[in-house]
Amino acid sequence: MKIVRDVAAVRAAVAGSGRVGLVPTMGAFHEGHLSLIRAARAACDVVVVWLFVNPTQFNEKSDLAGYPRDEERDAALAAECGADILFAPSVAAVYPAGFATTVTVAGVADVLEGALRPGHFAGVATVVAKMLNMVGPEVAFFGAKDAQQVAVVRRMVADLDIGTRIEVLPIVREADGLAMSSRNVRLDPDERRRATALHRGLTSARAAVTGGERDAAVLARLVQDELADAGIAAEYVAVIDPDSFEPVEIIAGPTLIALAARVGATRLIDNIEVAP
Ligand code: AMP
Repeated sequence: MKIVRDVAAVRAAVAGSGRVGLVPTMGAFHEGHLSLIRAARAACDVVVVWLFVNPTQFNEKSDLAGYPRDEERDAALAAECGADILFAPSVAAVYPAGFATTVTVAGVADVLEGALRPGHFAGVATVVAKMLNMVGPEVAFFGAKDAQQVAVVRRMVADLDIGTRIEVLPIVREADGLAMSSRNVRLDPDERRRATALHRGLTSARAAVTGGERDAAVLARLVQDELADAGIAAEYVAVIDPDSFEPVEIIAGPTLIALAARVGATRLIDNIEVAP
């Protein structure tokens, strides 16, 4: 596996090598990231892993400063999973002096995470647009864990006629259901135990749908109650359309239940798909 740092080097490395797959990440790899790299390996001729802690998508300075980083470990794991190229640019390579363009997506980027994390999705959309232009992949692989990010990226790719197909892979979870996240390392043992309520709440809502419940308010309440039992106050529990992220009142088709909650000082997100 080759490590490259700038656009000229990545373009030279992928030139003429067939079907290019890109896996965008901020590093601190866990099985969720590795599942994306393996999927890219299975589907593509050349696999590029983007490793960049993008400062513009952090709305809290302390979150950026404390974000776990270990390029050496990530490089070894990416190579083990069959990546061909690790593209790990510096902040100056991505945002050189004079950089002045921002991509904003209206609608789907304005609610939930977008409303609570001002500037977050503008940072995401801009850096994803840049990396797709830099690498020119046929396919880019994203995780369903960041469901709103997927919806924002899909909207942007369609609106800007970017020729990359967006492939979405299921959420990888710990044995007790907690969605894997680079931020989970910040949970102390008590918080880690209580954090299992997120997935428990979502699965009890899904079980209620299977049992015939169709009222979104009732489903959201079920999730809230499960969180409250663990001493967790949700920032939101939303029952929404998976593409537009508009609220759904009565479950009539594939629907997403998404939540964000702080467990101690750590902010976690999770979601589950339900269907009648
Ligand atoms: P990040 O490094 O957190 O920006 O995540 C990079 C990619 O990995 C994104 O597409 C995430 O949605 C995906 N990802 C993160 N956690 C998981 C997980 N537990 N399961 C599946 N994909 C994930």
